[in-house]
Amino acid sequence: MVKKTVRDIDVSGKRVLVRVDFNAPLDKEGKVADDTRIKAALPTIRYLTDNRAKVILMSHLGRPKGQVDDRYRLDPVAGRLAELLGKPVRKADDCVGAAVQALIGEMAEGDVALLENVRFSPEEEKNNESFARQLASLGDIYVNDAFGTAHRAHASTEGVADFLPAVAGFLMEKELDMLGRVLGAPAKPFVAVIGGAKVSDKMAVIDNLLRQVDALLIGGGMANTFLKAKGLEVGKSLVEADKIGLAGELVRKAKNSQVELLLPVDVVVAPAATPDAQSRVVPAQNIPADAMALDIGPETARQYGDRLKGAATVVWNGPMGVFEMESFAAGTMAVAEALAESGAVSVIGGGDSAAAVHKAGVADKITHISTGGGASLEFLEGRALPGVAALQDK
Ligand code: ADP
Ligand code: MG
Repeated sequence: MVKKTVRDIDVSGKRVLVRVDFNAPLDKEGKVADDTRIKAALPTIRYLTDNRAKVILMSHLGRPKGQVDDRYRLDPVAGRLAELLGKPVRKADDCVGAAVQALIGEMAEGDVALLENVRFSPEEEKNNESFARQLASLGDIYVNDAFGTAHRAHASTEGVADFLPAVAGFLMEKELDMLGRVLGAPAKPFVAVIGGAKVSDKMAVIDNLLRQVDALLIGGGMANTFLKAKGLEVGKSLVEADKIGLAGELVRKAKNSQVELLLPVDVVVAPAATPDAQSRVVPAQNIPADAMALDIGPETARQYGDRLKGAATVVWNGPMGVFEMESFAAGTMAVAEALAESGAVSVIGGGDSAAAVHKAGVADKITHISTGGGASLEFLEGRALPGVAALQDK
């Protein structure tokens, strides 16, 4: 890793301001419904408290749009964090200002505090300099462990790094290492599986991965635009008419770079994307005019599975079908299982893809499931993430 981490600096006795991603889903009663993101930050928090830092955490939660909104207060998160850490967490009711300064002034070494939702302040998303300065005044060192928001240049993810020594936390380090492996020198054969709804979301990723991969397996709604580019009819399937030309270009580019680009040879079709719709399997050349392709078919799943079994490195972004509905989940589940059995170094990017791997029950057999949907996508596009760029190099 090229960026400094918490291991590279002396944190003992210091006030360490840590940007975490505690944007956890809450249930109807306002309790934390899924604490995955809180757990993901524990290694960094524990390291800092063990090394006698005063740990000041900051995060966003939901989209309060720059206003105080009681539904998005971080108190439930502070409660869950205290349970997980087995020690009290001081919760501030604001993220800057005199009361926060006073609360931090009372902290002892090894204590943990959590500031209020940084997005209650409109200056956060504007990356306002004086707001970033106010945040920075709360700490001696800045740590960014919020990979999930690293693609945003906000005050707490980027601006604050102008005013403090800035290093990565362990989650950030792991994400950059694992995703970096895919773009760095991946063990070959290297296979990419790309799916999801829209080809426009994935064009840049495909374009970037074409430089490295040996094979590209395409599924999901976006496969239809590729089928259309090949001259096939896709009925009522999701197609981006203005991207057909681009899809054709990517096919040519793959051929020129000797990348094997696989498209579905059969698909699951139905009159509509509804859970109780009558579905059936048809060859990709025979999609009926009144039907939608909503999953890859069993023959395609078998072919893709074969490719995955021979792979040494696999990156997967985007489900193969509308996996949220049982009738259109089989293709995605089959690919997840083949990936789990492949023995390849496997990296999953994208929020829905991560959910699919969990649904398939194979999450523990995957090398790395990224915690950052949008951030992992931008990383795989080869773009610099502002929250990462702001950290000190080793
Ligand atoms: P990720 O979050 O992993 O990056 P995307 O957000 O790009 O993935 O795509 C996931 C969405 O794509 C899912 O909601 C899924 O229902 C949808 N999808 C997959 N295949 C199809 C299809 N054939 N037609 C319409 N939508 C699809
Ligand atoms: Mg998604």
